[in-house]
Amino acid sequence: MKKLLCEMEAYAQEYNVPIIKAEAADILLREAMEKKPLHILEVGTAIGYSALRMAECLGEGGRITTIELSDERADLAEAYIARSPYADAITVLRGDAAEVLPTLTDTYDFVFIDAAKGQYERYLDAIEARLADGAAIAADNVLFRGYVMDEQCEVPRRFRTIVNRLRQFLAMLDEKPQYEVMVYPEGDGIAICKYKKI
Ligand code: SAH
Ligand code: MG
Repeated sequence: MKKLLCEMEAYAQEYNVPIIKAEAADILLREAMEKKPLHILEVGTAIGYSALRMAECLGEGGRITTIELSDERADLAEAYIARSPYADAITVLRGDAAEVLPTLTDTYDFVFIDAAKGQYERYLDAIEARLADGAAIAADNVLFRGYVMDEQCEVPRRFRTIVNRLRQFLAMLDEKPQYEVMVYPEGDGIAICKYKKI
């Protein structure tokens, strides 16, 4: 498994696949380790790196459902996953998460959101009905290159929509009483939320 993960890290580096940064992964996996989830939902598989890292934290008999838009990446993810001890525990769903999420019928106790950065609020809205009481939700890249929290600096035009939407997403988590959120600056910023049914 260690060798497989190293191979994936090298692939991601060579082909510019934005897999989770090591420092953010530490926070994500600490939460997952503590929770020992039985059903993880991941939005944004890429080549399956974070899914395999999280798989090592699953409770007994646990499984992961992960969604990826790019067929090329989903193919790679399936090939890597097939070489791991978690081949039977991980299912890759293909398509736009905004369309796939409303079709899900299971309940999830751990969610990792890491796909289109401008769509996080939409994803969470679609997932909320599928969350187990006490579920943990992690969202990667919420500080987006430092722009999200920096009121001083001018955000380059091409990032403005993403940055505004991430700000809205964090503000929404702050306001809604069913979510309790902590934002960590590690990596590209990772939010960890706890969901309570109210
Ligand atoms: N979680 C992965 C990295 C994901 S990178 C890891 O840390 O290892 C983000 C991925 O989200 C990309 O592979 C991209 O193709 C995918 N993506 C982007 N928009 C999406 C969408 N609308 N629906 C599903 N996946 C999407
Ligand atoms: Mg990410």
